[in-house]
Amino acid sequence: MPAAYRLVFSDDAAPVGDGNRAGRMVPGEYQALLVGTQIVPLPHPDEDRTIRQHGESFLSASLKGKYLRVTQRVCMQCGALIDAPQISFGAPGCLPALIAGVATGLYLALKAQWEILEAVEAAFGAVCGALLLSSGLGFAYSKLVWRARQQSISRDACPSCGSKIQRSINSLVGQTVPLNEQTRTVTVERRGARS
Ligand SMILES: [Zn+2]
Repeated sequence: MPAAYRLVFSDDAAPVGDGNRAGRMVPGEYQALLVGTQIVPLPHPDEDRTIRQHGESFLSASLKGKYLRVTQRVCMQCGALIDAPQISFGAPGCLPALIAGVATGLYLALKAQWEILEAVEAAFGAVCGALLLSSGLGFAYSKLVWRARQQSISRDACPSCGSKIQRSINSLVGQTVPLNEQTRTVTVERRGARS
């Protein structure tokens, strides 16, 4: 489940009470759909509905190289939030793995007359194998087939200031780090995982 982060800049407005603190909440990482050159976020928990509104499923978008995992990075010069999109495979193989597992279990129990416990064990192995295989294939597919597109959507320079020094929000958790030659800092806190 996605985590959320609070970013507080040293020049943000002063905190007002505990329930209304300064800073802004950001997801750190989110799923998105590439529509043309546009990155359309798929907000949790409505990602299924959103992707269908664009006429895609996780599988079709993944096969077309349009499913993105976007990590958020902080520009260490100006503090801007930069989206770093990565073309990914968004169908993690749950369905093929489940089908493989159930089919193997049923086959072994009915046809091969295995003990039910052994059949379940074998089915579990089939699920794990199918999961590993489909996630590995998905990863390789996204990496190899869409390499040129990936390069076209990657930005290594900050759109605000052009700096190439960035850090992922994840790597900044629990820290207060200086920006812009020490005149400003950003503090990153991790908020509890949302379901
Ligand atoms: Zn910047």
